[in-house]
Amino acid sequence: MTRTLKGRIVTPEGVIDGSLRFGADGRIAAIEGSAVVVERARDAGAPLLLPGFIDLHVHGAAGRDIMEGGDAALQVARRHARHGTTALLATTMTAPMDDLRASLAPVGALCREPAPGAARVLGVHLEGPYINAGKLGAQPPYARPVSLDELRELHALAPIRLLTLAPEVPGNMEAIEALLAAGFQVQVGHTSGTYEDGVQALQRGARGFTHLFNAMTPLHHRMPGMVGAALAHAQFAEVIPDLLHVHPGAIRAALRSIPCLYCVTDSTAATGMPDGEYRLGRQAVTKCLGGVRLADGTLAGSTLTMDRALRNLVDVIGLDLVDAARRVATHAADFLRLGDRGRLEAGAQADVVVLDRDLRVQEVFVEGGAIDVPHAG
Ligand SMILES: [Zn+2]
Repeated sequence: MTRTLKGRIVTPEGVIDGSLRFGADGRIAAIEGSAVVVERARDAGAPLLLPGFIDLHVHGAAGRDIMEGGDAALQVARRHARHGTTALLATTMTAPMDDLRASLAPVGALCREPAPGAARVLGVHLEGPYINAGKLGAQPPYARPVSLDELRELHALAPIRLLTLAPEVPGNMEAIEALLAAGFQVQVGHTSGTYEDGVQALQRGARGFTHLFNAMTPLHHRMPGMVGAALAHAQFAEVIPDLLHVHPGAIRAALRSIPCLYCVTDSTAATGMPDGEYRLGRQAVTKCLGGVRLADGTLAGSTLTMDRALRNLVDVIGLDLVDAARRVATHAADFLRLGDRGRLEAGAQADVVVLDRDLRVQEVFVEGGAIDVPHAG
């Protein structure tokens, strides 16, 4: 079905006051109108059209966790779509192989046959198990060195688009080239590695950093750590802008350092749910005061949604809408080398989020199909 949306359209080149038309093929056919300076985009109260959000780090929502298997990934993708996310990576926890197999099989089915009314599941972000046992964060104790055999078996179940590893774990640094040759994207995270480890991982082809600042060696001016390696050298990195995981000042510093810093939610089953007890993989977590924590107080993922991430970027961090749209959509698409997502331009997938002037979600379209947004209006 074809459709025309009118409003202030946030394109990679700037804001257009006009119309966006998409066709029966689920792609944007044309964008027409006249340019508006980005600072005035919200003035008229017209609907704001942004590229649908892309979230490369999603564990759960609505009481469901990707590690459950079954229809969890579908329910998670449905819930996040209501918040403007049009594509995501189902993200696993560090876990035994049997648990990973059980969770990935239904994700693979969803990747092959996308369900209507949900964000597109692009594949899997394997967050561990190839991480540092001393930097688990909220990950359970099943960390182990990289195994290409395990990866190939899991990849046959569901496409693994991204894996997080700690390069200082013996064998992992040397495995990076083989991982790339086998088609896996490598991101550094859950790591006690040094600055030098980070630089070497990037030289070997790692391209990003998993939730920058969290669960990695911090920057000290005589020991710049993994954070220093990222700030000095990375083109891409994830950050969790819920304002609990990272101070706004640290996000501003990273924005000045890392050209394609992009937002992820690291959202868990507790997202969109009342305070209480939830599961994160095999572990019990508690949601309270907007945070999700293990019993010892360690932050265990977030309750963030991408629409709130956008509001935090614009209203707290102070980004303009064109820059913010890159941080919630375009850079993540580019990281996965998906040139036809994450941007409003002719020929791209019609993944669109329509917001009011307060950046509240009004309408969402995934490949041209409308999502039911119950809380809009
Ligand atoms: Zn995570």
